[in-house]
Amino acid sequence: MGKILLPYLTNARGDLSDIADDIQNAVLDVEEFYGDRLRQPIDVIFTRALHEIAIPEDGIGGRAHSSNFVTIAFTKTSAPSRQLIGEMLCHEVGHAYRWQHEPEWADSFMQKAILEGISICLEAEFAKRSKAKTFFLETMQNRYKDIESCKTLIRNTMDLWGRNCNYNHEACFYTGNHSLPRWAGYSLGYMVVSDALSKSGQNIFDLATWRYSAIEYQFSKMLPR
Ligand SMILES: [Zn+2]
Repeated sequence: MGKILLPYLTNARGDLSDIADDIQNAVLDVEEFYGDRLRQPIDVIFTRALHEIAIPEDGIGGRAHSSNFVTIAFTKTSAPSRQLIGEMLCHEVGHAYRWQHEPEWADSFMQKAILEGISICLEAEFAKRSKAKTFFLETMQNRYKDIESCKTLIRNTMDLWGRNCNYNHEACFYTGNHSLPRWAGYSLGYMVVSDALSKSGQNIFDLATWRYSAIEYQFSKMLPR
């Protein structure tokens, strides 16, 4: 397998020296996870300079900017393990993986949620190799176990935004509001994609390349009436 993930560490002041080995090993783990399913190389910047996008509980966060470029950010002093760095990287590379195979633009609330759900399911698959999990993934999985809160979340998010394009992204995906918990959009996406996965019998690498409408169709069968 050729080099698929090209890591760059913003380490001019030695900020990342303490976790440089774990970063390099996490890159190898994620490369192995995706194998030759990735069609093109991906630039990955690891930095402490964008600490505001890191999840405080995990000390790490990320963004996928395109099918060939992702950023992984650490808080100023965090030292997540190789496994947790790998999980976060796996999530962001999951977006790039989808876009390399299916560049369909997500413009409604539901489609953005599905885009996130795909990456969370990939992250969950990666996390099976270890007992360690990010706080983020644990939150997603704990909410999914609670069927009643799932239904309430689905009802609230669908009532508020459904297939609307003009939703409040910040509130829905990050902060929450009076009727939605933090990360509600992520949770909804995880429920939708997990449900589509179990109904379709596909593996997540294949389902990740489906059109949004196909995934929504699988999910529509479980919508609360
Ligand atoms: Zn994401």
